[in-house]
Amino acid sequence: MQCSSCQHTDSRVLESRSTEGGQSVRRRRECLRCKHRFTTYERIEFVPITVIKRDGNRESFDRSKLLRGVVRACEKTGIPHGHLEALVDEVEAQLQQRCEQEVTSQELGELILRYLRCENEVAYVRFASVYRQFQGIKDFVETLDNLQNEVPPLAPPSSWHPSSPKAVEQDNSSSIVTRS
Ligand SMILES: [Zn+2]
Repeated sequence: MQCSSCQHTDSRVLESRSTEGGQSVRRRRECLRCKHRFTTYERIEFVPITVIKRDGNRESFDRSKLLRGVVRACEKTGIPHGHLEALVDEVEAQLQQRCEQEVTSQELGELILRYLRCENEVAYVRFASVYRQFQGIKDFVETLDNLQNEVPPLAPPSSWHPSSPKAVEQDNSSSIVTRS
């Protein structure tokens, strides 16, 4: 990606977020030579994603179906609907960026779980109960244990917490810091 100021071709990505319902990725970049900061929008070329279900059947990835499942799992958890939409967009964008065009329903579920963990533990456990097809109380206990031990959660889509301060938002313009 060429710097818009000095045309140097190496830059580092400061922040990525999916936009337009997951159809493009907005990246904030910094030129490695002149430190100029600029924003790029990369369109995702949509490839059809196939979901391989537990019983081996295949179906095409259906964003609205996934959203319905997530909404159901998150009923009465107080998570704003917009957060769930952003989550599904983020998951879809991730699937679009992988090399494989197939995903197992289990992988898909785990991906969502990693996001839900950051947001709400009740929703996490409920969603897990569906996706991991709980057989009984033992599975619940295991899931709760895993809350502590599992792979680190993925950072939630940045649109979830737009008010939180971002370290990367220091542009070249001088800023005035007021301390009380
Ligand atoms: Zn530059």
